[in-house]
Amino acid sequence: MKRDYYESLGVSKTASADEIKKAYRKLAKQYHPDLNPNNKEAEEKFKEVSEAYEVLSDDTKRRNYDQFGHEGVNGAGGFGGAGGFGGMGGFGGFEDLGDIFGSFFGGGGGRRRSSNAPQRGRDIEVDEVISFEEAAFGVEKEITYSRVEDCPDCKGSGAKPGTSPETCSACGGSGQVRRVQSTPFGQFQTNSPCNACNGTGKVIKSPCSKCDGKGKVRRKITKKVHIPAGINEGQTIPVEGAGSVGFRGGANGDLYVNVHIRPHQLFERRGTSVLCNIPITFVQAALGAKVVVPTLHGNVEMTVPEGTQPNTTFTLKGKGIPELYSKRMGDQYVTVVVEVPKNLTGEQKEILEKFAETTDDKQYNKKKKFGDKFKGFMGGDK
Ligand SMILES: [Zn+2]
Ligand SMILES: [Zn+2]
Repeated sequence: MKRDYYESLGVSKTASADEIKKAYRKLAKQYHPDLNPNNKEAEEKFKEVSEAYEVLSDDTKRRNYDQFGHEGVNGAGGFGGAGGFGGMGGFGGFEDLGDIFGSFFGGGGGRRRSSNAPQRGRDIEVDEVISFEEAAFGVEKEITYSRVEDCPDCKGSGAKPGTSPETCSACGGSGQVRRVQSTPFGQFQTNSPCNACNGTGKVIKSPCSKCDGKGKVRRKITKKVHIPAGINEGQTIPVEGAGSVGFRGGANGDLYVNVHIRPHQLFERRGTSVLCNIPITFVQAALGAKVVVPTLHGNVEMTVPEGTQPNTTFTLKGKGIPELYSKRMGDQYVTVVVEVPKNLTGEQKEILEKFAETTDDKQYNKKKKFGDKFKGFMGGDK
C-alpha cells in the first residue's frame, strides 16, 4: 500500500504550494542520505517525501492525484514499470535540494556548492575593549577588521578587466549536469554540479590577476560604530550589512561588535549602579564630615553624618550609568570604610585615653548590647 502523498509530507489536502514546499524542505533535510549514512529507513523516507513532492508541487500532477490517486500520476509507466518513474521527468525536487544544501553547508564549502543561487556574505565578529566611562556615556569607535569584498579591478566578475566570464559550454550555463541512476526502484535522474564551472554556469578564460579569478578579495576596512550609553560587558552591537559581501547578488553579512569594558580603578559596576568605597577616618566617622566623592558625572560633596558606622552605604541619586536605550539613570552607592590610625604618638595616645575616660557604654550601642548578652550567657539565662 502506497502512502498518501499529503500524509507523507504531513500537510493537509488544502495545503498551499508554499506549505508543501516548506514541509518538503524540512523532511528532505531530515532524511537526506548524506546526513543519514547507512540508514535504510531514512533512505526510504527520503524517497517517499521526494516522490510526494514531485507530484504535489506540480499543479497538473497534483490535480490528477487528487482526482485519481496514485493511479492518476503513475499512469502508464507505473512505479517499477519499464519506464521507472514513467514520464515523470525525474526529480524536479533536486533542484530545490541544491539550494537547501547550498545554504546548509554554505559558507566555507563554496567550491562544493551545487547551485549558482545568490549566497549571503559571511557575518564577522570582532571584540572591542572600551573604557568604563565610554560604556557609561556611549562612544563612536573606529573599528578595523578584515572582510571579503568585490575585487576592485574586475568589479567582482573574476574576469580580467576588459573581458567577461563566458557561459559554460559543458552545462549550457545552468551549473548542473543530469545524471541517470538505476536503482531497484527504477531510474532516477539527479542533477549534480557541473565540474567544468564548479556549478557556477560560467567559465573565466582570462582570470583577473588581482583576485586570481575569484572576483573577491579580502580587505581591511575601518568602520565607525556607535556604541550606545549604558552598554554592558559582553553585549553585542550588530551592524547590518557591514560583514563580507554576498556572492552572485546575495546580501552582505553583518558585523557583530562584542563589547568588553576595562575595569575602573575607583568604580565597580552592577547594572546601572556604580559602587565605590570611600575611606574616612574614625574621627570623621565620629564627628561627621563633608567628603569629596568622585562620580562619573564629576566630583560630589557628600555629608557623612556624625556617628556614621563603618561600611555604611550612602546613595547618590542619578550619579550612576544610564539604562541602555533609555534615559533612566542609575545611582551611585558610596560605602564608607572607617580607618583607624596606626603608629600613634605618645601625645595622641594620651589624648585618646583622656577621651576614653569620658565615654560610657551608652555611646557604644553594639558594645552595650553585646555586654548585656554576655552577662546573660554567664548567668545561665536563656
Ligand atoms: Zn578581480
Ligand atoms: Zn558548467
